[in-house]
Amino acid sequence: MNDQGHNAPYWWDEAAPRAGNTASPPAQAEVVIIGAGLTGLAAALPLARAGKQVVVLDKMRIGEAASSRNGGITSGNLHLSRQQLIRRFGLSQADAVEAEAVAARANLAEMIRDENLSCGHQPSGRVIGYLRPIDADAMRLEADRMNHRYNIEMKVLDQQQMTEHTASQKYQAGVLRPDIGSIHPGQLLLGLADRVEQAGGAIITETAITRVQRQNSQFLVETHHGNITADHVIVATNGYTDKGLPWLRRRLIPVISEIIVTEDLGANRVRALMPKLNMFGEALHLGYYYRPTPDGRRVLLGGRRYSQDPLISQRQLTAGLIGIFPDLGDVRITHHWSGPVAFPFDKLPKLVVNHGVIYAAGLCGSGTVWAPWLGKKAAAMILGEDSETIFAHQRMRSLPFYHGTPWFLPLTMQYYRLRDRMAAKSK
Ligand SMILES: Cc1cc2nc3c(=O)[nH]c(=O)nc-3n(C[C@H](O)[C@H](O)[C@H](O)COP(=O)(O)OP(=O)(O)OC[C@H]3O[C@@H](n4cnc5c(N)ncnc54)[C@H](O)[C@@H]3O)c2cc1C
Repeated sequence: MNDQGHNAPYWWDEAAPRAGNTASPPAQAEVVIIGAGLTGLAAALPLARAGKQVVVLDKMRIGEAASSRNGGITSGNLHLSRQQLIRRFGLSQADAVEAEAVAARANLAEMIRDENLSCGHQPSGRVIGYLRPIDADAMRLEADRMNHRYNIEMKVLDQQQMTEHTASQKYQAGVLRPDIGSIHPGQLLLGLADRVEQAGGAIITETAITRVQRQNSQFLVETHHGNITADHVIVATNGYTDKGLPWLRRRLIPVISEIIVTEDLGANRVRALMPKLNMFGEALHLGYYYRPTPDGRRVLLGGRRYSQDPLISQRQLTAGLIGIFPDLGDVRITHHWSGPVAFPFDKLPKLVVNHGVIYAAGLCGSGTVWAPWLGKKAAAMILGEDSETIFAHQRMRSLPFYHGTPWFLPLTMQYYRLRDRMAAKSK
């Protein structure tokens, strides 16, 4: 670890970032995709397979950004509850969002299977822990509704049943979603990049886009290494969106998420903590997410950034881990890293077209599911295939005087921390 308490993501031990297959931008391309994360590559693959001349550009290397930094929990979460969705959009739209989340999770599993991507994909199931007593009857009714509609065997767990899933005493109840699983994100991304290259797509790394201009029916994409004229442009830069893409930057709130991984604890010790090797989250505004690593020998835990100082943040995450599993008080943290996730102002992912440029972004910290889904839909827009998604139907708004630096975030985080603390106290 460096003296700031950070080092490379655990995933990079087995799947280190790499350069693309092409050295410099061509003068022309049918499709330019900005961003070689899961979104950009999931868009590139069907386009390259359809015979389009596709160029994916990234300012970093393949696997350096969020798609190889995440927790690998394939949640497909949305940050608005069903009740909030119904209030805001009405029942039929809320239903459409819910159904799309189920379809997007299935899409990820199909992509991994059909492309034979070796990435430790497991149907691990995810448990959300509740710190307060829940309205179990209402939640069982909701689980029945979901199970009837989607056949997913969602279960409400009481405190006794929680002990089958976790050694933690922190929770009074839980909800198990067996349709949510886990991946090794680094392996998934590099595997997908291989498929794009095998299909004839060009991936050009360490090449930043500085401007995209519309020129009649085409686009001029300006980069540090020369310009490209393109028929279509897809922007897939999510939390890493910079000043080269000002329209999107004004519409996203980047929020830093941080992760720690313990030393090798051995399979028995990890199984004693999480007997079914599930993925975990917490029913709080700023709860932790955690899981065993794919080899079942370490614990990975993540949460929102606590402090600008990585050492303080790491201490906070470690305290969070010990708060969940007091037995881990003696363990060493071997990995600690961070990365930005991105929220649109309405907290719903987006697939939008502005002045002819297609934007797939705002994945709200749940991109392992939403990125491949919206990437595929973005490609379908160009191919004239089924690009229908509920996330193309809301406007992507900004705020006056907002240019992408979220000055209001520290206050917002304080507010959510306070609400979480009050919720935890009212047990
Ligand atoms: C710490 C952390 C934990 C997370 N945990 C989970 C989880 O457990 N489950 C889950 O579902 N999701 C999780 N996420 C979110 C998930 O990783 C992201 O939503 C997803 O990877 C976004 O994919 P993407 O392809 O859209 O963006 P990214 O993978 O971030 O790729 C965007 C790319 O755009 C490039 N770029 C930006 N600007 C330019 C430019 N001007 N020119 C050229 N290139 C540019 C960047 O270099 C970058 O490579 C987590 C994220 C983080 C950071």
